[in-house]
Amino acid sequence: MAKVQHKVRFGPFRTSHFRKQVDAAFRRAFYSYLDREIIPFLEGDIVGIGGRVHSHYDRPQFNGLPEVKHRYYHELTFHSAAGTEDAHGEVDYDPATGAWTPSRVKPLRIWTLSEKLREKRSRDLDRQISMEARHHQPVRPTKCPRCGSKRVAEMRYGCFVSSDDSDPQWCCLACRNRWGLSARGLARREILKRISGEPI
Ligand SMILES: [Zn+2]
Repeated sequence: MAKVQHKVRFGPFRTSHFRKQVDAAFRRAFYSYLDREIIPFLEGDIVGIGGRVHSHYDRPQFNGLPEVKHRYYHELTFHSAAGTEDAHGEVDYDPATGAWTPSRVKPLRIWTLSEKLREKRSRDLDRQISMEARHHQPVRPTKCPRCGSKRVAEMRYGCFVSSDDSDPQWCCLACRNRWGLSARGLARREILKRISGEPI
């Protein structure tokens, strides 16, 4: 296995208490924690690690509080030929044993290659829907498709700006039937129809 390039920045820390903890043993223990607890869960063949380690408790008012004395937060990026993966989390350091352990307060969160791709696709789809929704005008139906009543009302979703795109658009006041799609719902349906067949 190729040697992993370690480029994590520790600090800068405000208080001397935190500043003094960072030494060679501290860094070594941190990287071996990553080797054990994070890298096995990533998808790429990791060649470099960047990002930073800081502490939310690096302030004078937390001085002397034993439970947060060695509590750190990492925001890391792991590089491989396939792309980058991220891991954020809170960890406790034990200077006596050199052990790093995840804190239960803010658990570890990992964004793998496939998770980042999923998030990107969902953002792209959302942007596409917003763009195309302008060209869709839901047409008010003249009557309810179920009972034939002409008392058709438009659904309103309170003050929520973005209701679910699949929420029904029309409501029959006679039989309470709900159906139809909003402009965003119509746009989403058309886009998905267009891209179906392409791998998602
Ligand atoms: Zn009806």
